[in-house]
Amino acid sequence: MRQSCDYLVIGAGVVGVGIARELAVRQPGSKIVLIEKEPAQAMHASGRNSGVLHAGFYYTADSLKARFSRDGNRALTEYCDRNGLPIRKCGKIVVAQTEKEVPLLDELMRRAERNGVELDKISEDEARRIEPKVRTTGFALYSPSTSSVNPKQVVEQMLQDARATGVDCCFGARYLGRSGSRVQTSVGSIDARYVVNAAGLYADKIARDYGFSEGYYLLPFKGLYLYSSHPKGSLSTHIYPVPNLANPFLGVHFTVAVDGAVKIGPTAIPAFWPEQYRGMENFRLSEFTETLAHQLGLMARPGFQFHRLAFEELRKYSRPFMARQSFMLADGFTEKSFADWGIPGIRAQLVRKKSNTLEMDFVIEGDDRSMHVLNAVSPAFTCSMPFSSFVVDRIESLQ
Ligand SMILES: Cc1cc2nc3c(=O)[nH]c(=O)nc-3n(C[C@H](O)[C@H](O)[C@H](O)COP(=O)(O)OP(=O)(O)OC[C@H]3O[C@@H](n4cnc5c(N)ncnc54)[C@H](O)[C@@H]3O)c2cc1C
Repeated sequence: MRQSCDYLVIGAGVVGVGIARELAVRQPGSKIVLIEKEPAQAMHASGRNSGVLHAGFYYTADSLKARFSRDGNRALTEYCDRNGLPIRKCGKIVVAQTEKEVPLLDELMRRAERNGVELDKISEDEARRIEPKVRTTGFALYSPSTSSVNPKQVVEQMLQDARATGVDCCFGARYLGRSGSRVQTSVGSIDARYVVNAAGLYADKIARDYGFSEGYYLLPFKGLYLYSSHPKGSLSTHIYPVPNLANPFLGVHFTVAVDGAVKIGPTAIPAFWPEQYRGMENFRLSEFTETLAHQLGLMARPGFQFHRLAFEELRKYSRPFMARQSFMLADGFTEKSFADWGIPGIRAQLVRKKSNTLEMDFVIEGDDRSMHVLNAVSPAFTCSMPFSSFVVDRIESLQ
């Protein structure tokens, strides 16, 4: 590894790669080093997500998510087209499971209008013409610009671009700590004029080394998927329920993957340590006790109804229970239709200590020496290009 650099970016997920790429394009000649603890890019959330390019109609107009989803969707769609990366322009239907949910469809319509996102309110018949299996009550919404990509391929291409513009990428290099501008990693130390922390599930800890994230901590939520045994292409579009707009998760839904495979998920099950994908994988006692203490604290204090979410979500470890979630969205599926669990992903969800609430929007904190991406929650994949540009604007304005 180099002895020194202008920018050290920590984490080769879509956010870290996006920021490194943006810095290299804007500041040619700068020495930019990207470190990643894993042997390759996108081994965590960025390579384990649903791969959906969201349209941007869930978010209130004053949020960063609203600002970046519409533009991010367009930017990544063009990027995939230009680079020959597979993209399935399958659209998405949002259904009302009961009549009570119809007003929520109207609220989403209002948000779409404010955010400048194309969204159509359609009748039950029109919904069935788009996808004959869909179940809805009276009305549904149709989003034509929602699509699917292969997230790993997208990040790989973005990393190739970053390298081509001069970013030095160092895999198997874990950030360990810092003293002054000197950063210690598992492969040696480096003097970094500016540090950008995009470390996903570990971003809060790294931020604290720099005096940030004092009012927050990250909590891991596990997203499980169940694959349908129906042939690829058997569903023409994504099918989503109306989400609970009070929390940042979208509820179990049908996703059509880029290759046409149909899956349901992801769950938002509280995980007991940050990278708890399967069994005791990546177990560290200190992380387990810290996560558990945070979860118990959330249960004990007013604020976010953690116990309710935990109770609802833990049931989704049961395959029949998960399968049954899908019956409310589409006909033609049975418990036996869902045999195989897919690769799980874990969300790094920021919690605000003072109010015990989940942060709904992206959060960054920093100064003239370092910048920390603390809440790159969904749909940060969709938003990655304009979001990276926003982070770099902030970095440049502070220096
Ligand atoms: C189940 C699930 C489904 C989702 N579905 C969608 C979707 O359909 N559409 C969408 O837009 N978004 C979706 N998201 C959200 C999206 O995947 C994330 O918002 C995005 O990937 C976050 O990217 P990131 O780069 O911040 O994090 P990550 O991809 O987690 O990257 C962080 C990187 O930092 C590295 N790192 C951590 N600690 C260190 C250290 N000490 N030293 C060096 N490196 C370190 C990690 O190894 C990792 O590679 C989903 C997320 C999940 C979990």
